[in-house]
Amino acid sequence: MLPLPMDTTRHRAGRALLAALWLLWAPARAAVAPLPQQLAAIAETVRFVPTQALAALLRLDAQQRVAPVAERAEYLFLLGSARRGSGQTAQALATADELIALGRREHDDVALAKGLLDKAYVVFAMDDLKQAHQLAWQAERVANGAGGGDAALRIMAAIASGQSFAEDGNFPAALGKLQGAVALARQHGQPVQMVMALNALAYLYTQIKEYDKGFAVLAEALPLAEQTHSPGRMATLKDTEYALAIETGQQERGLKALLAGLAYERQIGADAMIATSLVNLSDSYLKRRDYARALAYATEAVEASRKVKREGNIATASLNIGQAYLGMGRLAEGKRYVESGLAWYDKAGDKPELQEVLMEYGAALERAGDMAGAVQAYHRERALSNELFEKRRQKETLELQEKYEAEDRQRQILLLQRENDIKSAEIYSRRLEQRVWWLLALVFALAAAIVGILYRKVHNANAQLKVKNQELKQQSVRDPLTALYNRRHFQEFMRAHLGEREQEARRADGAGEELVGALFLLDVDHFKHINDSYGHAAGDALLKAIADSLREILRETDMIVRWGGEEFLAFLPAIRRGGVDEVARRLLDGIAAHTIDYQGSALSVNVSIGFAPFPLVLGRQELSWERAVNLVDMALYLAKAHGRNRAYGVNGFASGEQMSMEEIEQDLELAWRAGFVDLSIVLGERSCQKAPVSALSAV
Ligand code: GH3
Ligand code: MG
Ligand code: MG
Repeated sequence: MLPLPMDTTRHRAGRALLAALWLLWAPARAAVAPLPQQLAAIAETVRFVPTQALAALLRLDAQQRVAPVAERAEYLFLLGSARRGSGQTAQALATADELIALGRREHDDVALAKGLLDKAYVVFAMDDLKQAHQLAWQAERVANGAGGGDAALRIMAAIASGQSFAEDGNFPAALGKLQGAVALARQHGQPVQMVMALNALAYLYTQIKEYDKGFAVLAEALPLAEQTHSPGRMATLKDTEYALAIETGQQERGLKALLAGLAYERQIGADAMIATSLVNLSDSYLKRRDYARALAYATEAVEASRKVKREGNIATASLNIGQAYLGMGRLAEGKRYVESGLAWYDKAGDKPELQEVLMEYGAALERAGDMAGAVQAYHRERALSNELFEKRRQKETLELQEKYEAEDRQRQILLLQRENDIKSAEIYSRRLEQRVWWLLALVFALAAAIVGILYRKVHNANAQLKVKNQELKQQSVRDPLTALYNRRHFQEFMRAHLGEREQEARRADGAGEELVGALFLLDVDHFKHINDSYGHAAGDALLKAIADSLREILRETDMIVRWGGEEFLAFLPAIRRGGVDEVARRLLDGIAAHTIDYQGSALSVNVSIGFAPFPLVLGRQELSWERAVNLVDMALYLAKAHGRNRAYGVNGFASGEQMSMEEIEQDLELAWRAGFVDLSIVLGERSCQKAPVSALSAV
């Protein structure tokens, strides 16, 4: 839009151009009755003498209210420019917004583009460059979209767009836009637009230090400006020439351009431009050390600036007055003016500018011989420089610190993340470990339970087996009917344990008389008769009763065996030798006395018994238990044969050994009668003697 200041000199030159650029567009013609013509005339003055234009516009207010949209749009556009140029920024902004609203309401793109452009200028004046650029570019788009009907508007928008790019630092784009504006103006054929576009292009070339091209463009613009017969146009071109001349070190040419420009400005009373030109003139004369002229122009500049209320201009002019006084050796006045100028810059906060001014001030004081003052100025400059440096340094430090902190944070986050990862992994592995332990515990518990169950099963099975075995054993050693030992058990027992058990028993009881073993074999008398008369069950009941009697009569240590159907055997391991017959008697009587009640009948039986002490000794030889049992059986047979209900006992054998054991076993009765065998006979109660036996020793 408007060129940014590049240094002090150019800043001040820039301020002059700033005003000048807006004064480019206006054919000088007298106001006539129709509104468009009147507006066209004002469009010329608005750029150079905005206060005048504003007054003229306000006089046309009633007229514009009833005018068509296009005319009203142009009116508002100029009103906004006039207000801005007159320093009424807020009103200028409101006018621009009103114009934008009008364009939108009426769907008039030309009006809208003018409103946007007006607003861009106001916003620029308010130092909001960014928004100003956006508005300028938007205005350019809308203007181009409006069908290209308003060429002057399109050229203006293209220039504003190019200047925005330049301010944005995008010089190639700026160059493209401004060259485009020149091309459009050339096509359009109006010298005013050509001068505007070329002037903007020349200034851009100055900015990008393409001075030759700048001068060439300026050379093309000057004759065209003359064609417009507009002093304002000429003045702006002279200002651009001044800037180019200063940049290329052509002080003389610059001064000439300034003076020429000032003359044009005075022709039309362009006060703002005059004020700027006067400041620039005082500047130029200061550089030439022409302090008198510098003082004169600066003093005039202060007056002119006051008129247009340009504070910045006043401050710069004051500085120049001060410098001039210093140059003239009038230190006190010089200092006063410089200080007042500095105060404005200080207030405005333009530190770099202030710094440069202080340097110039110091140099001026030095030249004037006020070393102390110079040193003070330099000190102030240094302090400012330090402040600026400190600010820059702080900013850089902050940036560095932020960067470091950000990196540090990042590092900490990474560390935390890593720590977190490690912890997570630890927790995971611990959980896994726990699970493994739980699993192991479970497996152990299960295994233990299974083992326990199996153990119990085995234990139970073993117990059952033991019971079964005991039962089996019982069954194998006992007789099921009487629960007495069976014959096989007796035989096994006699084979295996006879010796020990006998001796043990005899030892235990061997205090008095000689102890011997004894064998008794019992057979129920006429048992067949019981079965036949009362039935087999009665017989069984009697057999059980006999077993009970035997258990009662004998000792627990005696072995009672069911020997056969109705035959019983008793083996008494230890008994007094003299008590054997007595036992036979007790057996006979005890069994006979035991009566059972069977279905109303009292049943009892007698038994016959064969017996012998054990062991039996023949000569010096002990008979085997089998032989002894055999002899007892033979004695039982004798008891049966001799009348039943009695007991025959083989007590021993006569000494001399005339008869062998085989012969005795052949016929016991014969051997007994021959006196080789000593038999004792015990009769049961109520038993009758069948055949008297001589050699019989009756008990
Ligand atoms: P003796 O006086 O000569 O011994 O005559 P006995 O009838 O007792 O002799 P015998 O040998 O002729 O008969 C024995 C009978 O005993 C035959 C048999 O039916 C009976 N007997 C054997 N065992 C049992 C048994 O367990 N229960 C019953 N009820 N009878 C039995
Ligand atoms: Mg029998
Ligand atoms: Mg019998």
